Amino acid sequence: MSIDFSEEYKPSKPSTTGEYTPEDMGENKLRPQFLADFNGQEKARENLSIFIEAARMRSEPLDHVLLHGPPGLGKTSLATIIANEMGVDIRKTSGPAIEKPKDLAAILTNLNENDILFIDEIHRMNRTVEEILYPAMEDNEIDIIIGQGPAATSIRLPLKRFTLVGATTRSGQLSAPMRDRFGVIIKLELYNVDDLQKIIERSASILGIPIDDGGSREIAMRSRGTPRIANRLLRRVRDFAQVCADGVITKTVADDALKRLEIDDIGLDAVDRKLLKSIIVNYGGGPVGLETLAATINEEAITIEDMYEPFLLQQGFLTRTPRGRCATQLAYKHLNMDFIGQQSFDI
Ligand code: ADP
Repeated sequence: MSIDFSEEYKPSKPSTTGEYTPEDMGENKLRPQFLADFNGQEKARENLSIFIEAARMRSEPLDHVLLHGPPGLGKTSLATIIANEMGVDIRKTSGPAIEKPKDLAAILTNLNENDILFIDEIHRMNRTVEEILYPAMEDNEIDIIIGQGPAATSIRLPLKRFTLVGATTRSGQLSAPMRDRFGVIIKLELYNVDDLQKIIERSASILGIPIDDGGSREIAMRSRGTPRIANRLLRRVRDFAQVCADGVITKTVADDALKRLEIDDIGLDAVDRKLLKSIIVNYGGGPVGLETLAATINEEAITIEDMYEPFLLQQGFLTRTPRGRCATQLAYKHLNMDFIGQQSFDI
């Protein structure tokens, strides 16, 4: 089938990094509510279901859980699922949103027995706030200071038993005492194509989007292993299908739409290609330091590290060496560039 995409139809490019953007508004509707709706991440799911079952049998709160991995892989969804599976309430906040110890004290003292406290970006919580959490996580109590100056006294306040679910994209930045207080640590991996395809089919059915097997497969292959990107691309391709085809997302419709959005056949976007090309053209294939690379392509180092690298590393286009980033032979091949060999390749 040939598709007549009208030339005037010029959509803005979607973000192909996993972090939340305004175009993801409404994603709550797609959020899985129970473990049975959560596709992929076999190991994490299995472990969690055992821990949840055991805690339920003992009528105790679940041990504190740390979820880590790149953005858009399901950390917030899993926190919601844990609360639903345990039949308790969840209170959601984020590390940077809790500015003062008393803000956290107010949240903690308002939790009910066995409730979940979800703290996103927990690595960005400031240290004085973090210190309130230690006795709360360990002994279910907090120390609060009343008064000021020499008259100040510290009192211990008992808390109801609760579960802290922390999420972070950078577990390396978490302090050791904080990390040690989590009984369950779960690392989320990028998703494989089969699991992403199931996620896309589930989302399509919730949103009432007609899609065939070839269409969902094509989007899955180009979603950088990330459900949030898969859902975003699904909505964009739906727009194309409605405006330019007969409404149904087939392999051809998905392929044409994604090409227009400059997402190539394995999901690399313009920034990925620029990053790899820059290593090859400007730095002879590498190694090049992260900061230098970031300055060359005009992106933040943190954005490269959190959003772009995980997929490029997983796909084998990039290696990280003690002296910097290197493009692999696979990257040269994908970009149709001649591999001249790296002058100094760290082993
Ligand atoms: P994170 O907190 O890691 O950034 P989220 O939990 O907010 O990621 O997930 C982003 C979106 O991706 C959610 O709205 C949800 O619809 C979808 N999603 C993530 N993981 C899954 C999964 N395993 N199955 C189905 N949908 C998922």
